[in-house]
Amino acid sequence: MNPPVRINPETGLKLFNTRAAKASEKIAGKGYSVLTDQKLKELPELPAGATFNAEEQAKYRAFKEARRGAADYMAMEGEFKKYLDDVYSEPPIPREALTDTCEILVVGAGFGGLLLWHKLSEAGFTDVRFCEKGGDVGGTWYWNRYPGIACDVESYSYLPLLEEMGYVPSMKFASGFEILEYCQNMAQKFGFYDHCLFHTTVEATTWDEASGRWIVQTDRGDRMRARFVLLANGILTTPKLARIAGMQKFRGKSFHTSRWDYNIDLRGKTVGIIGTGATAVQAVPELAKIVRRLYVFQRTPSSIDVRDQRATTDEERATWAKEPGWARARRARFSKISAGRTAIQANDDYLAGKIPEIKKPKKYERVLSPEELLQKQLDSNFRIMEQIRARVVAIVKDPKTAAALKPYYPYGCKRPTFHDEYLQTFNLPHVHLVDTAPHGVSEINERGVVHEGVEYPLDVLIYATGFQWMGTSTFNMITGRGGRTLKEKWEREGTKTFLGLHSHGFPNLFIVTGPQGGGGSFNFTDAIDAHGDYVVWMLQTMRKAGAHIVDVRKEPEDVYAEHCRDVDIATAPLRDCISYYNGEGNAAPGSLAYYGGGKWHKYRIAAQSTLEPYVFEGGDLTDSLAAE
Ligand SMILES: Cc1cc2nc3c(=O)[nH]c(=O)nc-3n(C[C@H](O)[C@H](O)[C@H](O)COP(=O)(O)OP(=O)(O)OC[C@H]3O[C@@H](n4cnc5c(N)ncnc54)[C@H](O)[C@@H]3O)c2cc1C
Repeated sequence: MNPPVRINPETGLKLFNTRAAKASEKIAGKGYSVLTDQKLKELPELPAGATFNAEEQAKYRAFKEARRGAADYMAMEGEFKKYLDDVYSEPPIPREALTDTCEILVVGAGFGGLLLWHKLSEAGFTDVRFCEKGGDVGGTWYWNRYPGIACDVESYSYLPLLEEMGYVPSMKFASGFEILEYCQNMAQKFGFYDHCLFHTTVEATTWDEASGRWIVQTDRGDRMRARFVLLANGILTTPKLARIAGMQKFRGKSFHTSRWDYNIDLRGKTVGIIGTGATAVQAVPELAKIVRRLYVFQRTPSSIDVRDQRATTDEERATWAKEPGWARARRARFSKISAGRTAIQANDDYLAGKIPEIKKPKKYERVLSPEELLQKQLDSNFRIMEQIRARVVAIVKDPKTAAALKPYYPYGCKRPTFHDEYLQTFNLPHVHLVDTAPHGVSEINERGVVHEGVEYPLDVLIYATGFQWMGTSTFNMITGRGGRTLKEKWEREGTKTFLGLHSHGFPNLFIVTGPQGGGGSFNFTDAIDAHGDYVVWMLQTMRKAGAHIVDVRKEPEDVYAEHCRDVDIATAPLRDCISYYNGEGNAAPGSLAYYGGGKWHKYRIAAQSTLEPYVFEGGDLTDSLAAE
């Protein structure tokens, strides 16, 4: 077996062997089952003519205002740090601390890291090193292994490089376990493992002006130097906990859904799950199949749309085998309809390229003002939510439970969810929804959860309380020019980036799918793809010209940040609720996700053709400009 660090005799570069062994064979999860009951897979009729009138608007507002200030999350520190332990891998492989230099250092080995490696190595960049906190690749799909986990974007469009991998996912919505295996297979096939330091958390990244390099320090004692640093550390990586009085007192077993502890046998147990976001919606139906009694503690209901899970058909396999580029073409079609829910329920015939358009764009008799257009969008959004609320009533038998499960906010304001078993689960006699609206669970004691004076004794308590969203500036201490950290800069000036990828004063740093990063859509691997292409273009441009440092100028960054703020404000009525997408209602406009759609590409293309936003050091960029 190879040592953890060795030298490639041909290139002189270091190669690694740090992938950790599996911690347990007990993990044998799967995603959704395929349902045959058509009633559970249908939505009631779309209510024609229903409008988002003053009365309905007031209802939405009251729902939102009642919850204002209720979200109080805390980091997993001190006694709660144990919830972050890597339960999936054996302890880290011992290795020497590294103090050498590489050209490109990438933080993260999820789809971001994997796709970057594929693109960089294809473009001839080989001196690339990855640091990954976990014991293996996969990122999101390494950490999240709860029962029922599956992707929400159809897997034929979500999984990247299907043609290169010669793979067809087994289900329309592949389970997280299948996706994890796919990531591992990608890593094997493209030689990724040789380049990755697993169980290595980057703690500080500091720009050294004198050498024009980043100094990267890790929790393994490394102090490496890199010309370029690429942050591919994900948008939903850091789990968070709701702060609840007395939570440290609980004497039963407990864990967060992103570190699912399969050593705890849940069979025959009384289990409580706090949180009803996208994770809980997938996990609750599976939990209900195992446990003796299940309490689901809900503050705000999710919108539960139709899933319609199915296995990949023999016909699809046969057709795709004969169609080179089938997945790329499908993914491109998917991106055209991915603005929300149509993406999920997209017509297979359209995605398969059998029909040219899923739906004709609506034509109005006259040109509508932006306000009128927004009202139209709000009305159709309202009708979708009416349909989703009607679905709750059609499925859930107990009227009180059904009422509590109805969401009152615009579709897409919180992360939309899709499931055909979740609502039905609440008809089971051993499953109880505990409605803790609007403020959430108020107390936890030695025995379990207490709400409104009622104690719910539990054997196991599961926190499905989600993740920090878009926390790039806080992942590790990133110190740029003049000793200023990215966190300080953004706290003082608001989030400031160019394309989401650069931030002025942080040369040779690329942020993949961070705040203000557009170019993708509902399908995150699309954004990773677009950002990866951009990074490779920039590195190639610099290599060709002999440039070694790139920073972005302040003015274009200010203009871009203002653009992000403007589009966020203009589209905010469509996201008018308390949600992690808007920092629980507290985020400054334009500081988190990007809402400008295709305009990101316009900014990018303009920048790439004029090179105006950038300041390069070393080399001559004249030829690159002429080539564009
Ligand atoms: C449960 C769940 C389901 C999802 N389903 C979908 C879906 O259906 N469709 C979709 O488009 N998106 C989905 N997402 C979003 C998903 O995160 C992205 O699709 C994609 O997997 C992100 O890949 P990434 O590599 O950018 O980030 P990640 O997969 O989050 O990987 C980042 C990696 O960086 C590592 N890391 C972070 N900080 C450090 C550090 N300081 N040092 C070292 N390593 C570090 C982390 O350990 C992690 O492994 C889902 C997210 C979750 C949580």
